[in-house]
Amino acid sequence: MYDPKSLRAEDFISDEEIKATLAYAEENKNDLELIDSIIEKAKQLKGLSHREASVLLACENEEKIQQVYDLAERIKKDFYGNRIVMFAPLYLSNYCVNGCLYCPYHLKNKHIPRKKLTQEEVRNEVIALQDMGHKRLAIEAGEDPVNNPIEYILECINTIYGIKHKNGAIRRVNVNIAATTVENYRKLHEAGIGTYILFQETYHKESYERLHPTGPKHDYAYHTEAMDRAMEGGIDDVGLGVLFGLELYKYEFAGLLMHAEHLEAVHGVGPHTISVPRVKHADDIDPDEFDNGISDDIFAKICACIRVAVPYTGMIISTRESKAVREKVIRLGVSQISGGSKTSVGGYYEPEPEDESSEQFDVSDKRTLDEVVRWLMEIGYIPSFCTACYREGRTGDRFMSLCKSGQIQNCCHPNALMTLKEYLVDYASPETRKIGEELIQKELDNIPKEKVRQIARDYLTEIEKNGKRDFRF
Ligand code: SAM
Repeated sequence: MYDPKSLRAEDFISDEEIKATLAYAEENKNDLELIDSIIEKAKQLKGLSHREASVLLACENEEKIQQVYDLAERIKKDFYGNRIVMFAPLYLSNYCVNGCLYCPYHLKNKHIPRKKLTQEEVRNEVIALQDMGHKRLAIEAGEDPVNNPIEYILECINTIYGIKHKNGAIRRVNVNIAATTVENYRKLHEAGIGTYILFQETYHKESYERLHPTGPKHDYAYHTEAMDRAMEGGIDDVGLGVLFGLELYKYEFAGLLMHAEHLEAVHGVGPHTISVPRVKHADDIDPDEFDNGISDDIFAKICACIRVAVPYTGMIISTRESKAVREKVIRLGVSQISGGSKTSVGGYYEPEPEDESSEQFDVSDKRTLDEVVRWLMEIGYIPSFCTACYREGRTGDRFMSLCKSGQIQNCCHPNALMTLKEYLVDYASPETRKIGEELIQKELDNIPKEKVRQIARDYLTEIEKNGKRDFRF
């Protein structure tokens, strides 16, 4: 029976409730009065239930869809301003004992080279990432208790945080590893991770079991209940996501929002982020084999509906998406993107020979970080390398209250400008630097509090003239 407060996966992601939601959405998708009232509710910025949001997703009325897009854009501007947080994935190991049908790291794939970074190689990768300008990483690994035990992951995190090279530093390590125990989550928490990210892949239990035929990941309940264990282990920033293309998107969308509602109901805080990956071509994987692929337009509609349904949750998009798609969805609510990414184990320090690729999937956006940063500024955004919230202890509900109090503009905005300044001084090409310096001058005026504005100006001078780094509000 559907119960958002239950700790059992089958209760809080009730298949019955999702099916009833989809039927309700289908029945009401042309009820313009109801749709108006849902849009009005979303305008209060208090979020929408999975049922309400599913009606918006099902709606086919062009005018109403446009209103949802406009609202998503407005919410994005009001909460996140024009800042886009930058990150990069770092693949530690592609050893994996699971049998996921969509992933090239599956155990039966014998032609992909298996690699696991040594600590020396982690160092090389991180220095290469620091030299690009990155400050925030998401570490990735296959599931393999022998090759990638939690001790290995912890050792890598320790190595990453310990590397001081020129003015570089990785200030936040997010972790995307397989579902694990409360005890291991506690260890990750104590190692100082940022967000724990775990994609559900699909909320549809039967499909989940078919797509994960072998290995520990086969256990739907263990995987779906992972975020509760992570929170029990002390991690209060968790990141949800589904792999779009595996199952019907309307089903996934309702499941995703029900998962968010469950976290809010049980732990008092919803997900910190939601990721929206789509299945990509990879070694041994043809995305056309999964017949639930979605068009770019539907993808944009999903992003807009997520934005209006959970206004306080950051949205992440990776280099799986092309420049054109990224441009479209950044407007509709995406707040974090990766840049200059490699999905291979060891690809940053030394490019891999093509015939020995350990890549997880093909990257669509192949631009360098400098190109992505410049492009963002040219289309009106502030690329931000900020990691302040988590380092100031503003995680979980404390981050949410910052969002809700409207103080973001006095806090995140100057932090974004200062970290951009560091990037421009230390890593940018002359052309990018020129655009960035002009942008910073212009954007300083958008800090509401006079006092904060003055301190930010002083810090910017310290960065430029005295080589100081890592200021934050
Ligand atoms: N092994 C960990 C787990 O089991 O959750 C997570 C790490 S895995 C490197 C990160 C994510 O990549 C997976 O959760 C999956 O959604 C995504 N992924 C796997 N194969 C993919 C493909 N062919 N295209 C796009 N994304 C893929």
